[in-house]
Amino acid sequence: MTISFELASLRTRANGVCELCSSVGSGLPYAIAPLDDGTAAHSVLVCEACFAQLDGKAQLESNRWFCLQQSIWSEHAPIQVLSWRIANRLRNESWARDLLDQVYLDAELLAWAQGGSESESVESSVETPTVDSFGTKLSEGDSVTLIKDLDVKGAGFVAKRGTIVKAIHLTDNPEHVEGRVNGTVIVLKTGFLKKA
Ligand SMILES: [Zn+2]
Repeated sequence: MTISFELASLRTRANGVCELCSSVGSGLPYAIAPLDDGTAAHSVLVCEACFAQLDGKAQLESNRWFCLQQSIWSEHAPIQVLSWRIANRLRNESWARDLLDQVYLDAELLAWAQGGSESESVESSVETPTVDSFGTKLSEGDSVTLIKDLDVKGAGFVAKRGTIVKAIHLTDNPEHVEGRVNGTVIVLKTGFLKKA
């Protein structure tokens, strides 16, 4: 399919630079599927180097896409959407993930950004819940019971099976919570706990 682009409008908007990385040059029009009708509202003018990476199969070079940290904040919807998509393909990189967390696209733009591309799961950022040994979800401040004796290394005591630990504190690790036993805050493995 040949798309006839509104090149004049794109060039005016781009003002002589790549709309993604700001490198100077005439630029190539890139249409953003699935709204690839060639209008400036649905296209971005990019340099050859950026264009070459926009093929869905290309291996993206993370380092050259730091420019997204600027372009994703563009006032122009297609530039935002394309930047979001590239960042999403790079979401294994922490900087790209941070950027996606910071940026806000309204519902319509987000649907466009998520559509038409290889729809990688956006929900991969959902955190693993912390659960006890029976699979019951544990929340900050819950009370739990130890289901076996725990030799608390370094503290010199054994936390007895059946001990109730109040007001647990969740950690970044879903397999660990913190709780106070015998006046000492210790890390407890969730596999040895039962929600009280
Ligand atoms: Zn570029």
